[in-house]
Amino acid sequence: MKLWRKPFDYAEKATTSGQVFIDEERCKGCGYCVEFCPREVLKMSTELSPKGYNLAVVQDESKCLACGFCEVICPEFAIRISTTNEK
Ligand code: SF4
Ligand code: SF4
Repeated sequence: MKLWRKPFDYAEKATTSGQVFIDEERCKGCGYCVEFCPREVLKMSTELSPKGYNLAVVQDESKCLACGFCEVICPEFAIRISTTNEK
């Protein structure tokens, strides 16, 4: 659907996209981040890490809204989200 006009505060409220960084040394493959991501940005890898875990990996970063759920839910502090504003 093509919008023919925009809200007055469009620039202020413009969508924020995120870059996802997963620390492979910290991730223990619990899958919480994959389960809680509302946009299916993350998935579990099929390959094992040197420690024997299936790690979380990014499958489609373009869908990330930088909501931060994954960052908050990760018990190992293995995820960091970097935000960029798209206007
Ligand atoms: S910040 Fe939100 S949308 Fe982005 S990967 Fe994490 S949970 Fe998913
Ligand atoms: S929540 Fe953290 S430890 Fe669990 S799979 Fe995701 S990144 Fe790895």
